[in-house]
Amino acid sequence: MSFSKWVVLVFVLHLFNPSLVRFCYGSSSSTGFSDIPKKLLDVAKKKEFFDWMVGIRRKIHENPEMGYEEFETSKLIRAELDKMGIKYKHPVAVTGVVGYIGTGEPPFVGLRADMDALAMQEMVEWEHKSKIPGKMHACGHDAHVTMLLGAAKILQEHRDELKGTVVLIFQPAEEGGGGAQKMIQGGALENVSAIFGIHVAPKFPVGQVFSRPGPLLAGNGFFEAVISGKGGHAAIPQHSIDPILAASNVIVSLQHLVSREADPLDSQVVTVAKFQGGGAFNVIPDSVTIGGTFRAFSKESFSQLKRRIVEVITGQAAVQRCNATVDFPSIPFPVAINDKDLHAFFETIAGDMLGKNKVGIMQPIMGSEDFSFYQEVIPGCFFFLGMHNETLGTMENGHSPYFTVNEDALPYGAALHSSLALRYLLEFQPKISTPVEKHHDEL
Ligand SMILES: [Zn+2]
Ligand SMILES: [Zn+2]
Repeated sequence: MSFSKWVVLVFVLHLFNPSLVRFCYGSSSSTGFSDIPKKLLDVAKKKEFFDWMVGIRRKIHENPEMGYEEFETSKLIRAELDKMGIKYKHPVAVTGVVGYIGTGEPPFVGLRADMDALAMQEMVEWEHKSKIPGKMHACGHDAHVTMLLGAAKILQEHRDELKGTVVLIFQPAEEGGGGAQKMIQGGALENVSAIFGIHVAPKFPVGQVFSRPGPLLAGNGFFEAVISGKGGHAAIPQHSIDPILAASNVIVSLQHLVSREADPLDSQVVTVAKFQGGGAFNVIPDSVTIGGTFRAFSKESFSQLKRRIVEVITGQAAVQRCNATVDFPSIPFPVAINDKDLHAFFETIAGDMLGKNKVGIMQPIMGSEDFSFYQEVIPGCFFFLGMHNETLGTMENGHSPYFTVNEDALPYGAALHSSLALRYLLEFQPKISTPVEKHHDEL
């Protein structure tokens, strides 16, 4: 999709969003609402419910699928939604599923889960280890899908109490494929006025959640450059143009973008993570390929980095008589920015469920998430759900071949998703315009 069409789409989506106002309830009725999250957690923790979720999560874990190839995962999701009697749209963005629960009327609130796995070999030896060599759910997306299905089940059981519509967004390709952007283009956010997303966090304690208002995760882009010289005998360098030396200088110069050009208080990263060139001890190669990632917390810093990466690579390569071409091979992820009001709402709901001391504010991190695409269109709140339990020992971070999920976290995810949606629909209703009163001045 061209940029102009994209802008039009974003604009149209904005038009569809009804203007919402948060009802201010008196203390007695808000007390009634404040019990909901705890009750839903009790439901999700019931043995039968918990066992059902664990079964789903293990099934998905055993059959990991890469971005836009989540055909079996998508089929499993649709089979569960069918059993629950929930209507959905499919396919959206190849394998994506968008389910609807409630009145079909505004407000519409979105809940999102990502379905894709990573291209890596699972090293954890357990009964439900990945059955697909070289593929693994090492980021917890199997847990995310399960939690959203858990929420769907709870919400469907409470469908008569919903004061609007819950939109369940099961998206493909979060891991670099920009699945969220394709879901938006497929209409997943149509009428939706707010969206929530969960990511499991192995370093935070189970039963606790962490997030922050404003920027939470960095904008992320990848770059790749081919630096070309002239190959030849390594012992006669005067007859060659050495791209290895040029690439080495390029890498050193790229490090100055953050250390010398960026505001020290504005977090940014440029990492060269790929360096490929040469294959013999005595041959200067024709070319070298380098690549890496750049990250920042504002659009301005992000585009400044992007521009300077091109200038530095081509300029520095030219100093050493080389040519360079620079490519940005994937769609960059925007900065994930939590809407302040929605984050405050999330804190209230999570506090009602877990206790205020279990709801933490975290520092922004340089990781990225394609949830940020949704947040560019509508207000969104993304948060981390703890999984760590001391009895389990050290838990590895996401993208480790030793990554594990503490399944005790599943009920918390299901209950948080469902509570956020249910309470959102109760508390944020479309503004009803009151008729303008006529002034009778004949008296
Ligand atoms: Zn990941
Ligand atoms: Zn992830």
